[in-house]
Amino acid sequence: MTVETQAPPMTLGDRMKAAPWEPTTTIIRVLEHTLALLALTQPMKPIFWPVMLGMYLWMCMSTGMYLHRIVSHRCLECSAPLRFFLTIGTALNLGGDPIRWAAVHRWHHVHSDTPNDVHTPVHGFHYAQGFWAHKLDAVMLEPMLNLVKDVHDYWLHRWFYNPNIYVLPHLLAIATFYTLWGWAGVLWCLYVPLVVLIHITHAVNSFGHMPRFGSRRYETRDTSTNVWWLALPTLGDAWHNNHHAHPGKAGHGETWWELDLNKAFIWAFEKVGLVRKVVW
Ligand SMILES: [Zn+2]
Ligand SMILES: [Zn+2]
Repeated sequence: MTVETQAPPMTLGDRMKAAPWEPTTTIIRVLEHTLALLALTQPMKPIFWPVMLGMYLWMCMSTGMYLHRIVSHRCLECSAPLRFFLTIGTALNLGGDPIRWAAVHRWHHVHSDTPNDVHTPVHGFHYAQGFWAHKLDAVMLEPMLNLVKDVHDYWLHRWFYNPNIYVLPHLLAIATFYTLWGWAGVLWCLYVPLVVLIHITHAVNSFGHMPRFGSRRYETRDTSTNVWWLALPTLGDAWHNNHHAHPGKAGHGETWWELDLNKAFIWAFEKVGLVRKVVW
């Protein structure tokens, strides 16, 4: 007599890993990388350097400070003009609208480094370093949306949930740089910082959950890690073990030498009244 054993049901994280690549994200990512590489064929003007840095800061702050610390974790509140500015910043790099981003991120905190986590290096380094995003479609996203009902409270979040509207700031950036400096301006000033940001952001999901690349101050139940060499380009979000230990705190760097530019910006914004109710 044979005894049939039933395999346990697959978790969402496992199902996503096994899913086929989602074509829209894949096409967009391939195009972005191609355009960033094509910048190397275009003349570089000195004015591009500050513009590229400004675009990087805008997009990185919109991800690390706004999507992560403000929208996902509610560590502080921000004023209407700053909120608008940072929400537009989230659309420039097409990294995921606020509702979608917060849904995935809150799911990550609930299921960190278990098979049900959707971007853990448990599923492989390359998977955490970006491939996971190619598996995220509406069906996979559906269970995560239950975690972000509150994120619908802002009208621009609701607008940006529509991909046709979410893409408008990106198109406006293309039009602006093209008008100013032609295709060289578009490729250098938009696509180069954008592609750098994609990899830096994903590096928090990969290296930031691999203890051999950093250190752990807290024995959290996940494998989150403080990665000092990622602190500058992530504007502080690489103090990821500190963050997993205290997800409700606005600052991720906890000592004077743990460089956390987003924390410094929040401190300055608080002084001038642009943010309030900061959970330090
Ligand atoms: Zn977080
Ligand atoms: Zn994490």
